[in-house]
Amino acid sequence: MTSTDFEPVICNPCGNYIWRGRVFGFPVKLDVEVLTVYEEIMAKLFKTRRTYLIQRSAKSFQAVPRMGAYINDTKNPVLGSHLCSPENFKFGATPPPDYWGRDLRKTYDGEEVPF
Ligand SMILES: [Zn+2]
Repeated sequence: MTSTDFEPVICNPCGNYIWRGRVFGFPVKLDVEVLTVYEEIMAKLFKTRRTYLIQRSAKSFQAVPRMGAYINDTKNPVLGSHLCSPENFKFGATPPPDYWGRDLRKTYDGEEVPF
């Protein structure tokens, strides 16, 4: 398995919701905002962040690193690695929506308390 199912957690330094999971066994944090094609090109060009194609799983999604030539995939969103900015700490962040319109609140019930 390339990736674990990602789960929404609050990033302690900046207070924002992020997605946390593992890709090839390595811990990965992703920002919740979907990248546009332009943003993804900029991220690659200036190597500001890694990008991942996400594919829905039963629980949430799994992430596949975007490497080399672009795959023309319009069905699945692309997310970028988390850009942490503790100087803009956010209070009262709301959990990210499901990218495929599913209601996953039950899935996360009983999981860790953010603070
Ligand atoms: Zn952060």
